[in-house]
Amino acid sequence: MPSLNFQQGPIRPPSEAESLLIRTTQGCPWNKCSFCTLFEGMSFSIRSVADIKRDIWAAKAFYKQRKFTTCFLQDGDSFAMPTEDLLEVLATLKQAFPELQQISSYGRAQTMTKKTATEMKAICDAGLNMLYCGMESGSAQVLKKMKKGITPKSILKSAEFAKQAGMKMMTFIIMGLGGKELSDDHVQQTAQLLNQINPHEIRVLSLAVKPGTDLDDMVQKGLFTPLTEQEMVAEQQALIEQLQGIDSQYGNFHSINLLMELSGRLPEDKASLLSTIDRFFSMSEAEQNNFILGRRTHYYNALSDMNNRLYFDTVQQQLSTLSHLDPQALAAMFYQLRQRMI
Ligand code: SF4
Repeated sequence: MPSLNFQQGPIRPPSEAESLLIRTTQGCPWNKCSFCTLFEGMSFSIRSVADIKRDIWAAKAFYKQRKFTTCFLQDGDSFAMPTEDLLEVLATLKQAFPELQQISSYGRAQTMTKKTATEMKAICDAGLNMLYCGMESGSAQVLKKMKKGITPKSILKSAEFAKQAGMKMMTFIIMGLGGKELSDDHVQQTAQLLNQINPHEIRVLSLAVKPGTDLDDMVQKGLFTPLTEQEMVAEQQALIEQLQGIDSQYGNFHSINLLMELSGRLPEDKASLLSTIDRFFSMSEAEQNNFILGRRTHYYNALSDMNNRLYFDTVQQQLSTLSHLDPQALAAMFYQLRQRMI
């Protein structure tokens, strides 16, 4: 295969694995969140329209006859582009890849709310019809502590803008982002904001603190207490319980999450999502530990995988070598295993 002669950024959402990737911006315009190292050391820039258009045609030549129906615009915020530039890029994309049905991008609330409703509509009509929103929490306290640089008010406003323009919206939520200190507020306010937004899709991630981040520093100083695996599941249980009056798709797709089977459509699957969580909590502590270790060592994908006797016994054997650890030390070890997954 010939080598790529167009730019590719470092990240894309997992659901965009089969999408055409076109880079409109480099890095993140904010780059200050306490837990994030995605664009560490990279300063934000908007690529020139000429360079992006050159990349689009280079991608067209590279993929030859391949037809793409979805495209993701990298990196952190295509809405930071002047609207007329973004419209020109979208027009070129449609010209080069006429089969595209969905074009998506990350968008920061603070950037999007600087556009007018007319501009947002024009962007959606030109093809950018799906927005990924890294909301992470609906709690003003959590957003402030994590230095997200956005507020529940700006998230809601940008969501309204996007939806009024006709865009689909996928929101990311991070369980455990309030730590033990702000856990209740994190869940309550996040549920409340999601209930107001009613996004097309809610995707859940579980926090693992990256070494070297500001958040890691807070942990070391005792200012942030990470949740255990069980506490993280309990948070998600409370979140699902409090989601009301919305018809969003709900999903756990990242392997950092413990219960990957927590996916479905609200409201019809709410009871089954909660019953999966009940199943986890109805297990003995030893069984829960077996499942956690099995998930973190890649033996299990779902609770039902514990029925595989070979896997179960292998994990149990590993667990028995840790029998000298008290519950706190075992939780700390699970925490380290989760950290290794980021
Ligand atoms: S806005 Fe997103 S990409 Fe930028 S620093 Fe925060 S979490 Fe990272």
